[in-house]
Amino acid sequence: MKFLVIQFSWILFNPLLILYLTLFCNRNQRTFRPKKSTPSGSKGAQLRKHIDATLGSGNLREAVKLPPGEDLNEWLAVNTVDFFNQVNLLYGTLTEFCTPENCRTMSAGPKYEYRWADGVQIKKPIEVSAPKYVEYLMDWIESQLDDESIFPQKLGSPFPPNFKEVVKTIFKRLFRVYAHIYHSHFQKIVSLKEEAHLNTCFKHFILFTCEFGLIDKKELAPLQEIIETIIIPY
Ligand SMILES: [Zn+2]
Repeated sequence: MKFLVIQFSWILFNPLLILYLTLFCNRNQRTFRPKKSTPSGSKGAQLRKHIDATLGSGNLREAVKLPPGEDLNEWLAVNTVDFFNQVNLLYGTLTEFCTPENCRTMSAGPKYEYRWADGVQIKKPIEVSAPKYVEYLMDWIESQLDDESIFPQKLGSPFPPNFKEVVKTIFKRLFRVYAHIYHSHFQKIVSLKEEAHLNTCFKHFILFTCEFGLIDKKELAPLQEIIETIIIPY
């Protein structure tokens, strides 16, 4: 019994073990960001319920439409948070495969390569590995979602005049993560049996994008064929 107590206290107070656990937790924190909660208080929660209900019906084309009488900015805000969470989860399953060694640049097939610039700290675009690019990109989106002057949390707080422009930039950047996943990691997605889930998330994302004109056509070029198969059958 005494031996067991000693063993237990060794585990509790072993500094190396504590250090390891801290590093492990921090590593996971970077890989899996906490899910963002819905903005705009109770109004946001109400719109969230509407999204769940319409998605449950299986009709994505209906699910993306602005519900009658609702505010467009509120609708864009709630959905932007949702799409950010979806991409975060999808990419999170690939982090052990999307490494600086495997993906030296943020590419979307042989013809497209993205360089990172946020226009504030990094003005001249820099070439970084895909995981670094995605880290910059998701950090940037998170900072926009956390900025209450852009995504107000309180009911009735005004949205900034450039709100749609910010949303458009967020969507343009989220699209690049999809483009990289489809071009560089699709086989892995298939082996993880996530193909149907990825396709449904992307279809929802693209239908929403088209409904509100959020991404320029030339930006969509790397996944044009997949997009056509989503849009044309309707
Ligand atoms: Zn990759």
